[in-house]
Formats: sequence, C-alpha cells, structure tokens
Amino acid sequence: MRGHQADQGSKRLLRERNVKATAGVTISEDFPIPDTMRAWVLGDPGQLTLKDKPVPVPKRAEVLVRIDAVAICATDLEIIYHGPPASIQGGLPFNKNFTPGHEYMGTVVALGPGVDEYRIGQRVAVEIHAGCGQCKRCREGMYTSCHNYGLNYGDVDKGHRANGFTTDGGFCEYQVNNINTLVAINDEMTDEEGTLVVTAGTAMYALTELGGLVAGESVVVTGPGPIGLMAVAVAKALGAQPVILTGTRDNRLQIGKKLGADAVINIRETPDVVAEVRKLNCGRGVDYVVECSAATRAINDAVRMVNRGGKVCLAAFAHEEVPVDVAHIVRNNIYVYGIRGEGKSATHRAEAYMRQKRFDATLIHTHTFPLDDLPTAIRYAKDRVEDAIKVVVKAKAGATQKIAAE
Ligand SMILES: [Zn+2]
Ligand SMILES: [Zn+2]
Repeated sequence: MRGHQADQGSKRLLRERNVKATAGVTISEDFPIPDTMRAWVLGDPGQLTLKDKPVPVPKRAEVLVRIDAVAICATDLEIIYHGPPASIQGGLPFNKNFTPGHEYMGTVVALGPGVDEYRIGQRVAVEIHAGCGQCKRCREGMYTSCHNYGLNYGDVDKGHRANGFTTDGGFCEYQVNNINTLVAINDEMTDEEGTLVVTAGTAMYALTELGGLVAGESVVVTGPGPIGLMAVAVAKALGAQPVILTGTRDNRLQIGKKLGADAVINIRETPDVVAEVRKLNCGRGVDYVVECSAATRAINDAVRMVNRGGKVCLAAFAHEEVPVDVAHIVRNNIYVYGIRGEGKSATHRAEAYMRQKRFDATLIHTHTFPLDDLPTAIRYAKDRVEDAIKVVVKAKAGATQKIAAE
C-alpha cells in the first residue's frame, strides 16, 4: 500500500487533501462534499478577505463539520484587530492564511478513520479546545489549559487544536473537529441557539467545575455581555440565590432579568455598587462573583462584593495591567481564578440545561447575516449597531434546514 502510494507521486498529495478520496474517511452521498470552500482569511490587522480554500480532511478521532452557523465573539474582534490570544505557528495570526471564528455549530458530514461515536448527518455544537491529550492538564480534563497550547505545526506538532485560535476556525464552510470537542444537539435547537452552547458551557465550567457552586449560594455577575448573560442563566438554573447582574446598558440588564437575574444594578446610576450588592444580599457579601466586564476597577470591586472566603472568577480580557488590592484578598481568604473558555466537558451539561429549556439562550441572539457579509456582521458586533449582542453568520440558507431524524 505504501509503495503504491509513493508511486502515485503528486497524485497522492492531491488525494490527501481530498475528503472523498482519503483512505479511512467515511462520507455519504446525502452530504456531498466539494473539494474547495469559501473561507475568510486574515491579512493585516482588521483585514479579512474571502478566498477559496481546500476543504480540510478529518484525521483519526476527527470529523468534518459542515458549518451551519457561527457567532461572532468579542475575542474574535481581539484576534482580528490585535492578534492575541490567537497564536498561529507560534506567533501573531496575521498574513498566515488563517481563518478565525470559533463559536460555530453544524452538521457532521465525514468521519475520520476509526470514528464511530458520531454519525453523518448529526447536528453538533463544537467546543473550541482539543488538548494534546498527553500533558498533565489534559489528563486532568483541563484541556483548555493544555501545556502544549498552540503546538500543532512543523517539528513541534503535539496535535493540539483550538479552532479559531491556533488552528483554522469557523468563518468558512467546513472545519475539522476532534470528536472530544463535539456536543450533540437535538433538532429542536435552532442553529443560532446551537452557537451559544459553548458560551453557556464556559459559564458552567466557571461556576461548577472551577468554582464548586452548589444550590442556594449567591452570585454576582459583572458585565452583561454574552458570557455574563449566560453566567446569569446558568447560575439561576443551578439554583443560585440571589443572582445579581451589574452593567451599564439597561436593555442588556433587562435581558439578564429574563434569563433569571433576581436583581440588576445599573452602575451608572449607582455610585457605590459594592454597598448595593451587600444591601441586596441581606447585608452580606456574596459567595461568587463572575467578572465579565473587563473594567479596570472590576477586580477590586469584585473582591469586596464577595464575602470572606468567597470566589472571584475573571472571565474578561482586560487590556492593561490592573493594580489589585492583594492585602484585602489575603486578609479575607478570597479565591481568584481566571477562565479562558470551556473545560471538563461542562459544555455537555450546559447543553442538557438548554435541552430542558431551563433558560432561553436565544434571548441574546440579535442578528444573522450571510457568511459573505461577515464584515457587516463584525461591524454590528463591534459597534453594537441596533443594540447587537450575539451576531451570527450562516454560509447558506439551506443550512437552516433541520436534518430529519433517522
Ligand atoms: Zn468566544
Ligand atoms: Zn495537553
């Protein structure tokens, strides 16, 4: 077999890039796969170009996903305009034929060699991070903290993938995903809602696996962006009481109420937000703060909103270094931890809550554009045009069609 392939020379190269003709890859005529696809490629900072790229081929433990919907995340804007936290071939992501986008969902259309955990035609949401599977953190289930992050090229290939960060992402028509990153979704869930499963999974990971929240504990969420709003929804679904949301935009605070916030605080109208939180929690600090605002004063406010021994999860990327009142944290035995995304398969539990309709994630989806209009969609997300929160792009109208259950 090897000798036969070697004889084929350039033909073999061509074959390896073609899903249909790669040994061990399973496809179905129900889902014809083209050789090339449309993909947005990042040039200089802020510059995206729509190009043709080969449809990637799934390897062992991977599937090919037809991307039916992809949401724009604040982190995508960071990557497109500034570079980090993306790391392509060990450096900035510019002019490397890199396709960003990481909050996507779709339909499995090809199975890599040995994959029988998923079937062709199955709808899935996808987690971003496939760890290397061999480092200490991956072995602990903390694959978002993989020690071989970004090592997936050339001589240092550890097989790590973080689609849209270290490997090609979702602003295109097809992408490969490790099966460990897939979350099956049912046909009742719309494509747009499917893009929010990982957002909710990130909130779940912050509150339960990392935080240890149990029912009846109290939570403040600062910043009503998508992660913050999902943190409100997940905290309430987990039985937290009270759940308090702080922010500056009344329309978003109102959505927070619909998602389960017991109280909201507009910090523009409340000079002492820490005192207000304590007032709302019977004079005491809360058990958890999930900080999603990236405001400069947010961490020092957060460590005062929690009670002694409380926990502060930092879920937003601050742009500059922030002075922190360490003595207050030490004196009061406060736990502070960062979170860069989903982990420990918390996404599966978030999906279970969404399947049970414990909260309506679609309340934060505001706009949908065709994939070809990605620059418009990005403008809506970046400038919050028409109060945009979650903006989604879709490759084709046909992608909205649900696959009939077999
Ligand atoms: Zn994101
Ligand atoms: Zn690892």
